[in-house]
Amino acid sequence: MSSDAPRPSSNVDQAELDKFSALASRWWDPNSEFKPLHAINPLRLEWIKRLIGGLHDKTVLDVGCGGGILAESMALAGGKVTGIDLADKSLKVARLHGLESGVPVTYRSISAEDLALEQPQTFDVVTCMEMLEHVPDPGSIVRACAALVKPGGWVFFSTLNRNPKSFLFAIVGAEYVLRLLPRGTHSWRSFVRPSELAASARAHGLTTQELIGMGYNPFTQTYSLNQDTSVNYLMATRK
Ligand code: SAH
Repeated sequence: MSSDAPRPSSNVDQAELDKFSALASRWWDPNSEFKPLHAINPLRLEWIKRLIGGLHDKTVLDVGCGGGILAESMALAGGKVTGIDLADKSLKVARLHGLESGVPVTYRSISAEDLALEQPQTFDVVTCMEMLEHVPDPGSIVRACAALVKPGGWVFFSTLNRNPKSFLFAIVGAEYVLRLLPRGTHSWRSFVRPSELAASARAHGLTTQELIGMGYNPFTQTYSLNQDTSVNYLMATRK
């Protein structure tokens, strides 16, 4: 992950944003393409709350917030949440949903890199979930997240590991066999190994606090957090 030179705004794969924009109306349909995100949301929310001792009154930034599934749940848990994304259709859906639900989240269309220049060291908590595998330079996002969080604050990442098993499970299994996700959702080459993410985090002043795996059981159709980080994983870091 190379990210030494600042690259504000250029770290975007438009085809990836278009993919999410095309599905935007379905963000809050729990049986849509976003079903897996709805299913894993309580797990990751509880994990975040456990590590930081609750979200009450914490300032939180959700990077790549999409329709606001995680952002709203963190606001409901007491966080003062800002969600950013570059797919404007998703932000529109997120704002509309917030009006309906009455859960206050501030949504902005701005890159993490640009917000880091505008508001460095501002947030107690930064979350960047299921997003790094969709950007050309994930290291640049890690760097921006590190700049955005306050000293002592937490940055949470989740993404997909890159190895033969993750190709088999996350691409072949999830997109072709079980059809949990639309075909083409993920590109295996863009997956990020935990060692790469930890190294990038460390290079930008973030220390890994916890690395945890997430698995799907096709028989019970449930997700759980476990020790197996070979496919989906979450990493908690602290500045
Ligand atoms: N974080 C949310 C959504 C994950 S889907 C969740 O876990 O529930 C990936 C999101 O990343 C999409 O909303 C997509 O629009 C966004 N995204 C992709 N590239 C981006 C970029 N360069 N900057 C900001 N958001 C981006």
